[in-house]
Amino acid sequence: MNKEVRVRFAPSPTGALHIGGVRTALYNYLFARKLGGKFLLRIEDTDQTRFVPGAEEYIKNALEWLNISPDESPWSPGDCGPYRQSERKPMYMQYALDLVEKGHAYYAFDTSEELDAMRERLTAARVVSPQYNAITRTQMKNSLTLPEDEVKARLASGDPYVIRIKIPRKEEVRLNDMIRGWVMVHSNTLDDKVLMKSDGMPTYHLANIVDDHLMGITHVIRGEEWLPSAPLHVLLYRYFGWEDTMPQFAHLPLLLKPDGNGKLSKRDADKHGFPVFPMDWTDPSTGEKAMGFKQAGYLPDAFLNFLAFLGWNPGDHREIFSLAELIEAFSIERIGKSGTKFDINKAKWFNEQYLRSKTDQELSRYLLEDVENDGLSVSEEKARQIVAIMKERATFPTDLWKEGMFMLIAPQQFDESVASKKWNQEAVTVLTTYKEKLSSSSEVLTADSAKALLEESAAANDIKFGKVMQAVRLAVTGVGAGPDLMAVFEIIGREELISRISYALDTLKIQS
Ligand code: GLU
Repeated sequence: MNKEVRVRFAPSPTGALHIGGVRTALYNYLFARKLGGKFLLRIEDTDQTRFVPGAEEYIKNALEWLNISPDESPWSPGDCGPYRQSERKPMYMQYALDLVEKGHAYYAFDTSEELDAMRERLTAARVVSPQYNAITRTQMKNSLTLPEDEVKARLASGDPYVIRIKIPRKEEVRLNDMIRGWVMVHSNTLDDKVLMKSDGMPTYHLANIVDDHLMGITHVIRGEEWLPSAPLHVLLYRYFGWEDTMPQFAHLPLLLKPDGNGKLSKRDADKHGFPVFPMDWTDPSTGEKAMGFKQAGYLPDAFLNFLAFLGWNPGDHREIFSLAELIEAFSIERIGKSGTKFDINKAKWFNEQYLRSKTDQELSRYLLEDVENDGLSVSEEKARQIVAIMKERATFPTDLWKEGMFMLIAPQQFDESVASKKWNQEAVTVLTTYKEKLSSSSEVLTADSAKALLEESAAANDIKFGKVMQAVRLAVTGVGAGPDLMAVFEIIGREELISRISYALDTLKIQS
């Protein structure tokens, strides 16, 4: 029987979760659901200097909003806890010591001054990227160069030390990435990374490998920025003797700026005025604010659909996928190798599709709330009617009221540019007749009857109906464009229509 698939999303709580991180979480979620496995979330907070209060809560809320909450996490633990690395601190040292014992890691006692001096020496000798590695380690203060007695004495007296991995001098490290295929790296490009810091905390590399192993992770799906670390991780699995259960790696392509030049950043978001975070975020130390997709009016299912397509596609022309359909269609094989350009217009397009697929009843709730917030009131039926004619024109739920408020609030002003071109004697004549015809009946006005009366009013004056349409719209709505005008007349009703036409006839002047 195949082993249960277990994947994890392993964010560091260093600020708001960037959209790239949300995509990583989504792909992990889809992969786990598709294969009937488990989706875990582990908080990687070993770097206490970068810890930001509220960041973990933010991650939790963002995933909840998108309905992709993990099966196991700090807030819904399974059997492999704790799910925060800071709480796992006592576990890691034994693994680092195990590597020291096997000769794959060593103690290093170099002070930061000594490390700086080493770098300066190498830079002066024109070494491009000075590293602590197989060559330079021989000139440094570590358990490979110091006499055994001195090492013991230093350890016993509590001298500060780190534990570094001993990268082999000449070896080809290979890994078969599910997206990229075989990746080969020569060990002489790797450095002796610190595994255990002097404060007794593991580094990301050690903690990540130990935890993935202990948590039974079968596949590591993460951003491309971690690909350079993967050879080191492969070596760690080997040195621990865990090669048989080493997870399969899948490194996701980068999310690129809209013009394709470089990685998408918060600066792009600020520059172009679009969000790159799932939800609003205020940095607790700087007070700096970042805009979220949620508060910008994106529907969670639309945002998810958009995210899924940032690097993956189903291989045909379908684009609208519910979460269940995404699970069904998802496969790592269909994730592209190259970076994906971020296109906010595509996000808007998805939002429009999802908005339109909602019933008038569902959408009217947004409108009713916005109307109430503006201190006005509207009946549920009327709200539904407004929604029905506005939803084809809306990108966000708030547009329903923003663009449709003219139906409840009569215009006080008229668009000058339309008035100067379209408000003429013919319009005044037709509207005067129309007003009379509307006043002489008391039947409930429908779109059809409103139209028939308007056509009659034009014909009675021998004026072409089409010629005055924009002026009629201007008189009733204040602007030159909008949704189906006769449907608007039905919603605002006979009395209000008469009153608006009277006001326009009194206010608007014919310009020569
Ligand atoms: N803590 C890493 C991050 O913040 C996780 C990388 C990984 O998934 O291995 O992205």
